[in-house]
Amino acid sequence: MKNIKHIFFDLDDTLWDFEKNSIYILQQLFLEFDLKHKLKTDFENFAGIYKTVNLQLWQQYSKKEITKDYLRNRRFNLVFNQFNYDNYDENIIITEHYLNRAPKGKHLKEGCIETLNYLKQNYHLHIITNGFKEIQGIKIESCGLKDYFKNIIISEEHQLSKPEEKIFRLAEDFAFAKKEECVMIGDNFESDVEGALNAGWKAIYFAPENSIINKGSHIKNLSELKLLF
Ligand SMILES: [Mg+2]
Repeated sequence: MKNIKHIFFDLDDTLWDFEKNSIYILQQLFLEFDLKHKLKTDFENFAGIYKTVNLQLWQQYSKKEITKDYLRNRRFNLVFNQFNYDNYDENIIITEHYLNRAPKGKHLKEGCIETLNYLKQNYHLHIITNGFKEIQGIKIESCGLKDYFKNIIISEEHQLSKPEEKIFRLAEDFAFAKKEECVMIGDNFESDVEGALNAGWKAIYFAPENSIINKGSHIKNLSELKLLF
């Protein structure tokens, strides 16, 4: 990583463990709302169905078949329905708790803090995240990441998102950086890796699975960054 002075990280599922934080809140809600008895199932089964239903809804949302309100206001009831239980009002209450608590999750990806402590000695660290200002702000604040980063660029604040080239140009301006000094690290190949490469940056794909990629570098664990920098 010659000439690199600035390291830009994605947030969700790169530093902040979205999956772990989500499961933790679901577990709390499963207990608090006594879903074990209402749905006549165990948590593992419930979480599996939630994952499937949620994925389907997000796919429908990205194809513009449903609205964000539909996704938000029906999700838990659709999960309930899989267990022959129907309760729209309870579904709304659970949704509010979920959306309120999830961004406060503190689970980070393995090796996150030790790697950031290592990298910050010789590099300027920044975040570029696609998401909502308030939610991403709460996440960064609650999990103790804030002080590691010189700049935190949240897509909603600038009406720009990865992989648009303009957001990478904006990030350079904020960091007083030249493009050859920048590298982007993230778990989304299109937004993080291709976006950065198209902007003339270097890129590192963070994918725990064995992925075959033809562009940029690849790591499976954040700690591997200590070997690259
Ligand atoms: Mg991500």
